[in-house]
Amino acid sequence: MTRAICPGSFDPVTNGHINIIERSARLFDEVLVLISANSAKDPAFTMEERVELLTKATRRFANVRVEKLEGLLADYAHKAGADTLIKGLRAVTDFEYEFQLALINKKLNPHLETLFMTTDPQYMYLSSSMVREVGSYGGDISEFVPSEILEEVQKRLVQKQEE
Ligand code: ADP
Repeated sequence: MTRAICPGSFDPVTNGHINIIERSARLFDEVLVLISANSAKDPAFTMEERVELLTKATRRFANVRVEKLEGLLADYAHKAGADTLIKGLRAVTDFEYEFQLALINKKLNPHLETLFMTTDPQYMYLSSSMVREVGSYGGDISEFVPSEILEEVQKRLVQKQEE
């Protein structure tokens, strides 16, 4: 059984993420979407909210599971029996950081391979931070986030801006 991990902070999940998850789910028997807690100090969505949003947005994929990352990704992968990490690449600007991370993860867990999947061109400009920025001022984010979670994401971003 082949098992891959799609890691990220998903604050919030975007159509760019879903595109990578969906394509990974076609290549592997099982895909674990792993949410990391720590990238932003003040995330727009709590860990529980991100789990809920991702679970809703990936419900239609039978072989995708959503989990929280506690501890090191390299250790988690070992315990979960996953030997592949899939990272989406939007532009060369993503590459340097991702390359460094891939080498560190390989050092921590020599069985762990990182594969880079190029984004579909229509998602090249899309990032969670862009969605947060546009959404917090009440801008239209309907093309950027999955329709199943659009309303919740919109509401939360505007609310957060007013806090
Ligand atoms: P972001 O960079 O949007 O804050 P994350 O930290 O949650 O996203 O990223 C998780 C993974 O998803 C990373 O591998 C990242 O490169 C990838 N990713 C994010 N947005 C896109 C996109 N629009 N197209 C392809 N991959 C993406």
